[in-house]
Amino acid sequence: MNWTIEDANELYRIDEWGNGYFHIDDDGEVHVRLKGKSNESSISLKQIASGLQERGMKLPVLLRFSDILDDRIKYINESFSQSITEAGYQGVYRGVYPIKVNQQQQVIEEICHFGKQYHHGLETGSKAELIAALAYMDDPEAYLICNGYKDEEYIDLALRGILLGIQTVLVVEMPGEVTVIIERAKELNITPNIGVRMKPSTVASGHWTDSGGDRSSFGLNTTQIIQVVDQLREAGMLDCLKLLHYHLGSQIPNIHDIRIGATEASRFYAGLIKEGAPMGLLDIGGGLAIDYDGSSSNSSNSRNYSMKEYCDDVVEEIMTICNETKIPHPTIISESGRALVAYYSVLLMNILDTNVFRPNMDYDPMDTQSGKPMPALDNLRYVKNMLNEKNTQECLNDLNYYREEIRNKFLYGKVDMRERAAAEHLYWTIMAQISEIAKGQEYLPPELMNLDHQLSDIYYGNFSVFQSLPDVWAINQLFPIMPVHLLDQRPTRHAILSDITCDCEGKIDEFIGRSEIQNTLELHAPPEDDDYVLGVFLVGAYQETLGDLHNLFGDTNVVSVTYDESGTFKLHNELDGDTVADVLSYVEYEPKKLEALIKDKAESAVRDGRISPQQRRKIITTYTAGLRGYTYYETDQED
Ligand SMILES: *Cc1c(COP(=O)(O)O)cnc(C)c1O
Repeated sequence: MNWTIEDANELYRIDEWGNGYFHIDDDGEVHVRLKGKSNESSISLKQIASGLQERGMKLPVLLRFSDILDDRIKYINESFSQSITEAGYQGVYRGVYPIKVNQQQQVIEEICHFGKQYHHGLETGSKAELIAALAYMDDPEAYLICNGYKDEEYIDLALRGILLGIQTVLVVEMPGEVTVIIERAKELNITPNIGVRMKPSTVASGHWTDSGGDRSSFGLNTTQIIQVVDQLREAGMLDCLKLLHYHLGSQIPNIHDIRIGATEASRFYAGLIKEGAPMGLLDIGGGLAIDYDGSSSNSSNSRNYSMKEYCDDVVEEIMTICNETKIPHPTIISESGRALVAYYSVLLMNILDTNVFRPNMDYDPMDTQSGKPMPALDNLRYVKNMLNEKNTQECLNDLNYYREEIRNKFLYGKVDMRERAAAEHLYWTIMAQISEIAKGQEYLPPELMNLDHQLSDIYYGNFSVFQSLPDVWAINQLFPIMPVHLLDQRPTRHAILSDITCDCEGKIDEFIGRSEIQNTLELHAPPEDDDYVLGVFLVGAYQETLGDLHNLFGDTNVVSVTYDESGTFKLHNELDGDTVADVLSYVEYEPKKLEALIKDKAESAVRDGRISPQQRRKIITTYTAGLRGYTYYETDQED
């Protein structure tokens, strides 16, 4: 049977998670659609990679697509508007983007600029984020929601933001904060907008949902909320209490939890109005999930609802309770981060090498040893001859027993190294046969199920899990990973991915699958004359700045790709990744000092006559070029 791009689509399921932004085109390459998901704006990721390499920018590279970000902002705002209109809801929607999800200046600038037509604002969780937000926001109708731990300086900055025409809202997250807010507001004589963050009793399912429940570290319980109300009333500032906030956690897979959360919050909202606060704003936090594995299920890498359903349900729950309690419909604020930026970035990496465990049938260490009998292999050969569908488990047991025996004989010097090599080769040959037979069988004992994983190849990718995909390492998050070219050819290898940090944690051996997680990824044998390039998709949320400098691999190169109205593509905001000198200085080495130390060492070598002055020069040139170079593996570039 011929392999077609439909087969590739079926295998990697790009139409299911790509959301119309990514697809396989007729040329067998993954394309990104940048404008309104239209085909005319489709461009091949492999061509972008090649174009960058021609310009001297090396892989790995992080591609950012601000057109996709714009499309996401438009989508969430228009979805809420539609739900509001259809339901006859009396309030409006105002989104705020939580800076922590992707703090890159480009992202903040784009959201403030493109989001202005929807009055999309920002959410901050720290003083540094507030300082960035105050500079970029300039829409008097957008909100700037100030969460997180607040000292006097944070509060003063937020209050002064009001004088600049920015609608800051100070959200009380901890019991003591309201005292300071009252003090500072009186001192500066500025009328604040105050919010309270409640602790929802709903604990949502999923990976990132510790934010809910009694023990969550942020938010006030019911007693504490009442205390805040009383304190504000006493200070004559209850009319400043405008907003109720809650956050159930991120990537909430089940719509049921979202509904319950909205219901509970609406009751609190109504309760605050009853207490005499003016209110007007109900902030439902983040949590809107992304379908990373394309399964549309309530598993932690997916979600069992659409954007439209999310908006419909939130609007409906709030409206029902407001109508019942006869209070005006509030402005609905949401703090979706992941849902806005996940599609925004793609990591492209090249494969540096592969380690093939399936034995190479063209090479056999036995052949090269002319005539030597190798009796140690007799038992293995016997197993090979006996193997059939009925005795696979038995053969596997024998196989492992005899290999152990040969290894022991090796320890006692009874088997030499070449004989051991021949035995290992034979062992893997038989394992591959067993695995083939096992594939055709319906019921498999557990030991046989795992064979494919044991026999899988290791592909070494030019990237660091710790730097670029921290959630893969920390919480086993799945991202769609696939080759971005050669998709009109059948992938013939099963592999896991290893990064280049030489850390046993620096690997990926879980991949998205149709109904369950796959332990291997089907890949092509890397082409001889070209890079084999893999893309890791949907990495725009939470990955960029969580990364650590494991083994001192730094930031990757970055480039933004946008669609130009003339029908072409523009590359801009090229940012060189960290150099070796950069990452060394992060851990407090001084590159100048390092150079000086090497120069001294080389000088004494010259003095002692161990090297010539010319050799010294070469050593120093190589050393300084290394310092200035990329921390990732640099493939030699022609000319
Ligand atoms: C992290 C966070 C968010 C963003 O959540 P997403 O699931 O990415 O939309 C929103 N609000 C608060 C308070 C957060 O801590």
